[in-house]
Amino acid sequence: MQFRDLKAQYNNIRDDINREISKVIDDSNFIMGNQVRELEKELAEFVGVKHCLTCGNGTDALQLAAMALDIKKGDAVFVPDFTFFASGEIVSLMGATPVFVDVDYDTFNMSPLKLEEAILNVKKDGKLNLKAVIAVDLFGLPADYPRIKEITNKYGLNLIEDGAQGFGGEINGEKACSFGDISTTSFFPAKPLGCYGDGGAVFTNNDKWANLIDSYRVHGKGENKYDNVRIGINSRLDTIQAAILLVKLKAFKNYELKKVNRIANIYTNELSKYVKTPIINNGFMSSWAQYTIKLESKQLRDQLQIKLREEGIPSMIYYPKPMHMQQAFEDNLYNFKNNNTKLLCDTVLSLPMHPYLEDEDINRVINSVKKL
Ligand SMILES: *Cc1c(COP(=O)(O)O)cnc(C)c1O
Repeated sequence: MQFRDLKAQYNNIRDDINREISKVIDDSNFIMGNQVRELEKELAEFVGVKHCLTCGNGTDALQLAAMALDIKKGDAVFVPDFTFFASGEIVSLMGATPVFVDVDYDTFNMSPLKLEEAILNVKKDGKLNLKAVIAVDLFGLPADYPRIKEITNKYGLNLIEDGAQGFGGEINGEKACSFGDISTTSFFPAKPLGCYGDGGAVFTNNDKWANLIDSYRVHGKGENKYDNVRIGINSRLDTIQAAILLVKLKAFKNYELKKVNRIANIYTNELSKYVKTPIINNGFMSSWAQYTIKLESKQLRDQLQIKLREEGIPSMIYYPKPMHMQQAFEDNLYNFKNNNTKLLCDTVLSLPMHPYLEDEDINRVINSVKKL
């Protein structure tokens, strides 16, 4: 059994993928080919925003968003303490200070209450400029944007949605990657919509930021690549990856999202009496980058993982360490207690989840967790 079975997905769409890859090679238009533009158009339509700009990966997408918003030294940027490293890394890379905010125990996402508390603390201290919030759609579930936006509006902060895991999720029919002033995603192979290498995208309705990002991603280009009007980076999506994503986006829209939601429902119905299963609040929809359960203690969690492994069932711990406890952030200005994050790091376990899980495998996972 695979934790996330990319081979099974490929087998399902092999002919289309192979044909589209061959076409790119035949045309030899490897950089910024037509497929890149076409993909950007389709992604913007699917998400419901004006501009989509693809780039090299999800981390670059965050950096491009931060560059467009001019995040810099002296700025405080509020980031959930429970997330993948890149969400905070990019803040420090820009010279700004990440402030790690505790998450909700139920949803794994940034707590709006704790966010406001952190903002007030930093404001009172007066050392940093209140600049932006990077909210993360962890495990496929959009963060609580209705409440987070109230807070960013109240304190005049920019909002970046890190939708690297969230592509395909929804709040009241509105799609993930449309909630930030600027939103980002990743096409890393194991993400909800993945390519066959690295890839990413930035989304925004703002023309000025879209133009800036279009320039930043190609060496700060002006009229063309050899007219350089600002310092940028080199971060583009390969035409081959765009061609692959055009095929995969169809499968994603047509059936993959439905399939993962069906599997999540079965897991939850069968397991909620035995372990804490994910909570999806009213109006929210997850794209199930991960299906993550919570155990009563670290000891029970670690035991369950070992026993599942013995039965040939892969599981993962996302994430074992709070961001504020990472060595890279040890000199950070603010370290709040963040009790939920610490508890989650010790007690979470992600189970196999992907659209091609067979019923037989789903039942094996369920029976093993029940038994153990
Ligand atoms: C994967 C991920 C990223 C980074 O994406 P890459 O494409 O690997 O650079 C950023 N944020 C979160 C929350 C992620 O899960």
